[in-house]
Amino acid sequence: MLKGKTAVVTGGSRGIGKAICLKFAENGADIAFLYAGNTAAAEETLKELESLGVKAKAYQCNVSDADAAAEVLREITKDFGGIQILVNNAGITKDKLVPMMKAADFDAVIDTNLKGTFYMIKGVYPLFLKQKSGKIINISSVSGLNGNAGQANYSASKAGVVGLTKSVAKELASRGICCNAIAPGFIATDMTETFTGNDALKDAIPMKRFGTPEDVAKLALFLASDESDYITGEVIRIDGGMAM
Ligand code: NAP
Repeated sequence: MLKGKTAVVTGGSRGIGKAICLKFAENGADIAFLYAGNTAAAEETLKELESLGVKAKAYQCNVSDADAAAEVLREITKDFGGIQILVNNAGITKDKLVPMMKAADFDAVIDTNLKGTFYMIKGVYPLFLKQKSGKIINISSVSGLNGNAGQANYSASKAGVVGLTKSVAKELASRGICCNAIAPGFIATDMTETFTGNDALKDAIPMKRFGTPEDVAKLALFLASDESDYITGEVIRIDGGMAM
């Protein structure tokens, strides 16, 4: 499905990003993934990708640093000869009710989740324009659609990702470039490990289970493939019905 394509996945070393890398690699894509600092996890993911017989490389890069994001995309273009798919998945939380939320925690979440996504899109924009094709997939969240108590910073960043997605989709639609967002609900990863034992939370999900990274990866594969060529500016919830 993705043979001959190179995908860049931010936050590809763990959780949802890792599942996306593996799913894309199983479908023939070469993979360049970014991670923040957990080198052991990145090395493990790299081994798993290489065992699938595709070209893969890990890059330590903080997406909230505009210069570093631009530089890593130049490096990946040189290493892989091009980029056809960008998945903006790197994200963090720093949850607190507003009175306890420090300005620095608000900034850190916006810097990684929203500005990081912008910097990466800015980096591939001229490449995608030149090749008149490309797929951009941004990972938002149901928190960005509905809001969530204790997540003012995170919800704002993920709502921002929705606006960014639609604006970029409008800028690039006539050039055959698609930009869509995925809004997951509760997905069992390191990010949500403190919640996944909570049966009341699970009961509030119509499908009565937390999602898996693999659930999200299957949707990302669809949005990265030719099967979704006439879909752009869309935000697709994947949440077991939670935000209905
Ligand atoms: P995770 O397990 O905590 O993994 C986060 C990944 O992002 C790691 O690979 C991490 O690298 C990387 N990362 C963090 N900050 C970065 C930075 N500044 N620059 C580059 N990479 C960075 O998270 P997850 O649960 O898989 O979530 C992935 C995405 O889905 C996030 O955008 C999250 O907001 C979104 N999401 C998750 C859920 C959920 O329930 N899990 C729900 C809705 C949306 P290191 O390993 O080096 O730290």
